[in-house]
Amino acid sequence: MPLEPLTDEQREIRDLVRDLARERIAPRAAEIDESHEFPWDIVELYREHGLFGLFYAEEYGGLGTGTLLALIAIEEVSKVCATSGLILAVQELGSLGLKLAGNDEQKERYLSKLASGESLAAYALTEAGSGSDSAAMRTTARREGDVYVLNGSKRFITNAEVAHVYTVFAKTDPEAGHAGISAFVVDADTPGFEVARLEPKMGISGSTTGELAFDDAQVPAANLLGEEGEGFKIAMRILDRSRPGIAAQGLGLAQGATDYALEYAKTRETMGKPIAEHQLIAAKLADMETACEAARGLLYRFGQLVDEGFDGPELTKASAQAKLFCTDTAMWVTTEAVQVLGGYGYIKEYPVERMMRDAKITQIYEGTNEIQRLVIAREMLKENRAFLLAGVA
Ligand SMILES: Cc1cc2nc3c(=O)[nH]c(=O)nc-3n(C[C@H](O)[C@H](O)[C@H](O)COP(=O)(O)OP(=O)(O)OC[C@H]3O[C@@H](n4cnc5c(N)ncnc54)[C@H](O)[C@@H]3O)c2cc1C
Repeated sequence: MPLEPLTDEQREIRDLVRDLARERIAPRAAEIDESHEFPWDIVELYREHGLFGLFYAEEYGGLGTGTLLALIAIEEVSKVCATSGLILAVQELGSLGLKLAGNDEQKERYLSKLASGESLAAYALTEAGSGSDSAAMRTTARREGDVYVLNGSKRFITNAEVAHVYTVFAKTDPEAGHAGISAFVVDADTPGFEVARLEPKMGISGSTTGELAFDDAQVPAANLLGEEGEGFKIAMRILDRSRPGIAAQGLGLAQGATDYALEYAKTRETMGKPIAEHQLIAAKLADMETACEAARGLLYRFGQLVDEGFDGPELTKASAQAKLFCTDTAMWVTTEAVQVLGGYGYIKEYPVERMMRDAKITQIYEGTNEIQRLVIAREMLKENRAFLLAGVA
């Protein structure tokens, strides 16, 4: 495994999460998928064991153990249940605005409750007409005395209805394009704000995905994050840091599917021997395992960069690379796992069917993988590698 050995503390926490995932979360995964109900018991499990604290500094009651370990926790949980892994990833996504752009008073007001899991968070950027092109958003925020009045709607918001705190982006200057967007912390009980509906989905069925409606919603001016007009930059900085959470979810799915397919292939026999001994199946297993390990290298490198204090373009590129490769690996590997199980892979009794459905969204949300490729290429075009050509005729 890359980056081993982890420190003793990191290993201890990883093993705790791994045990919880196997013993307490894995037995619930199929039920969560079938019931389409948000798993509050898993939230309670995280609260009891302080797992939300992995994402916060000690001054807010968090563990202060860093980004690498937080990503490993999402990976471990997602090996058995991607919906449960997403609960951790979105707690981070919905908190990053406060962490990166909040003032001391805002951090005091919100972060301790998020670190304990008393509050759940959400991130609301996407609208019906603006997904990849997020600057085309139409939700507005108009300053009136001590409040901003928000009008508009947001689409496809994870944790809609279960979150207590939403990071919401809206235009304070609709004529100014990117520079007219501002970011707000919006409490779930804000007058004029409601969840209009929830969407049925292909996978991650226990996670809520909903439409938010703002109808003259009154958000205190004290809930503006940063300055007016800084919202787009804040949204992008958040995504640089949060996308690896989705990469970790994808890697967990891929490794979980590989592990399951391996065990199945050792016991399922055709033509007088276990299918694992047929070379075509053995090759599939080898390729699946290798893809997981390569994906893990990119993901853990990102965690290490953050923990070493890197920021800026290095993070943007490393984040997009981890998201792209881990989630493409998730889709490919889970599809291969279904193939290894043959007809049984297509049947709900076996978890790889769920894993393949869950994997698809990882290539889409927090920026599609087409957008990740654009981001990586854009960063490459800024780099000067002309020296590599020196002396080449
Ligand atoms: C289950 C679920 C949960 C979600 N959770 C959240 C959330 O919590 N918060 C939030 O804000 N959003 C969330 N989203 C929204 C998600 O991030 C967007 O759906 C995604 O970014 C794509 O936007 P879109 O759906 O509008 O697709 P579009 O932007 O319309 O893209 C359609 C297709 O065109 C491609 N495309 C678009 N532009 C380009 C381009 N310039 N070059 C090449 N290809 C391009 C895309 O890659 C895609 O294949 C969620 C979505 C889902 C389905």
